[in-house]
Amino acid sequence: MDDKKKYRAILLAVLGVVGLVLVFVLRPERGKWWRHSGVVWATEYHIQYFADRDYSDSILEVFRRVEMSVSAFAPESTVSKINDNRSDSVDAVMAYMIERSHELSRITAGAFDPTVRPLVNAWGFGDDDMALPDTAQVDSLRRLVGIDKVKVVDGRIQKQNAGTQLDFSAIAKGFGCDEIVRMLQRNGVKDCLVEVGGEIAMSGHNSEEKLWRISIDTPAYSADSACRSSIMAFSMTDCGVATSGNYRNYHTAADGTHYGHIIDPVTGFPRQTDVLSATVCAPNCTTADALATAFMVLGLERSQAVVDAYPDVKAVFITADKSGGFKTVFSKNWPADKK
Ligand code: ADP
Ligand code: MG
Repeated sequence: MDDKKKYRAILLAVLGVVGLVLVFVLRPERGKWWRHSGVVWATEYHIQYFADRDYSDSILEVFRRVEMSVSAFAPESTVSKINDNRSDSVDAVMAYMIERSHELSRITAGAFDPTVRPLVNAWGFGDDDMALPDTAQVDSLRRLVGIDKVKVVDGRIQKQNAGTQLDFSAIAKGFGCDEIVRMLQRNGVKDCLVEVGGEIAMSGHNSEEKLWRISIDTPAYSADSACRSSIMAFSMTDCGVATSGNYRNYHTAADGTHYGHIIDPVTGFPRQTDVLSATVCAPNCTTADALATAFMVLGLERSQAVVDAYPDVKAVFITADKSGGFKTVFSKNWPADKK
């Protein structure tokens, strides 16, 4: 090879390397913020994520898979068939939910228990209209309740009592949020926030490259989203946040008494404790959702004890103060800069 050719080859090689470096260093960031909202499970969802393509089909697919497993509103879902004793076959979603429910029921002294469904129905929060069952009815239904009466062996459910029924409403939204975040992460998404009916799972940062900002509603007896106001807000990421309250879903009896939709599985009665709303931050939204529901049953002191036992769980409770206003109570481990 003569010198000229040699120099040309070297020059081309150098230019090639420089070109490649430039492509990688100056590579324009691909992707954009996608935002979707809609209605699922009779509530609204809002999802945002940074990605180079639209994942709305996959999101709807996740919703459908969760719905066909644990939604009592879908007559052909796994849970509906199991509740009617038409099948004993458990799918992967439900097997996971039952396994988590055993654990979550244990750590909440039975305050969270998806077998509460016969009681939820009896109090008119399931398929039936408002009802005020008497103590004898409640006592007989209570015998069907207890997640320890249910187990899964080789993909089949075993119920000690055929009348035992499951209600995953208290964790289905949280689980749905987690599943969507997992699906997005499998596809390489780092920054996302998934909210279904107020339960939130998030990772990474928002479009301003800051932590996600979460707001807690002021408890108010109205289901109207236009009446919402925020009592406090904080920034978080890489976790799940769920809020439970008895102030949006309740019945009012003729004498004016409010009956909330959260039932104490131990007594069988709707439970109104000193906690008006509980907001829980946990490593995932399934856990946060279950704990938030349980904390409504446990009341402030016992809920604080549960949070104290699990360092990766934090909570904010809204209680009523003596003058009729609201009091915000933080768990001990709640970061001081987020109050
Ligand atoms: P929301 O669905 O309003 O966000 P929750 O997550 O607290 O509220 O779920 C409450 C629902 O869970 C009730 O409507 C009922 O179907 C069911 N449920 C009621 N009490 C309990 C309980 N102690 N444990 C588990 N599920 C419950
Ligand atoms: Mg819940």
